[in-house]
Amino acid sequence: MYKEFSSLNYNMRSSQASIKYLIYHYTACDLVTSLKILCDDKSLNPVSAHYLIDENGDIYQLVQEERRAWHAGKSSWEGHDDINSWSIGIELINPGHGPAYRNFPKAQMESLANLSLKIIQRHKIEPWHVLGHSDIAPTRKVDPGELFDWRWLASQGIGIVPSFEKTFAENYTSLKLLELLKQYGYGIDHSEENQLQIQAVLGAFQMHFTPLYITKQPNIETYHALLSLLKKKNEAFSSRRQVI
Ligand SMILES: [Zn+2]
Repeated sequence: MYKEFSSLNYNMRSSQASIKYLIYHYTACDLVTSLKILCDDKSLNPVSAHYLIDENGDIYQLVQEERRAWHAGKSSWEGHDDINSWSIGIELINPGHGPAYRNFPKAQMESLANLSLKIIQRHKIEPWHVLGHSDIAPTRKVDPGELFDWRWLASQGIGIVPSFEKTFAENYTSLKLLELLKQYGYGIDHSEENQLQIQAVLGAFQMHFTPLYITKQPNIETYHALLSLLKKKNEAFSSRRQVI
């Protein structure tokens, strides 16, 4: 079921920005509370998203896509910091990290996949630009978390996940890993001795791409996953060049 709601929490996108990213979140509260929070402009800290998807698969449109919804907060990707201007945000009902954190049900994921495919086509969003809130705000956010099934979404043609090939040269150093995380898009300043930020970025990457190996520490598995993603991205670019 598709329902239109009207959140009052939006403004205009920056005139410099175009829709480039698709960002997934969980709400960490139930449907009634989520609708209230995402539509209430009287809150001290008003927030919103373009869409909200219930666990039963119902989709609520809260903000029109051409408008700037307020879901990203302080965040960064590929050097952009006003991610709200550059993205569409989708919230998923889920209790969030804590004792009740649970799998995102099939009906909810299927609605998400259908909606995402339309958004991706409409705005020509690249597979590597489909991200979690934790990717763009790793020191503040952990949603949608390791139970969110990125691999299934990739099987539906949404986003990108690594292949576990062992064919990469093992010239691994943790500094190289951090440099490549930045190259992939993460907002990371590895020149600083900022261990908390580095751990947060590693945790965000691992929740998204290696959810069975979340250590928040640099390691060769993370490095291989990242090389695989970069390789897929480069291959996508070079196959396009051949078509042209
Ligand atoms: Zn979020």
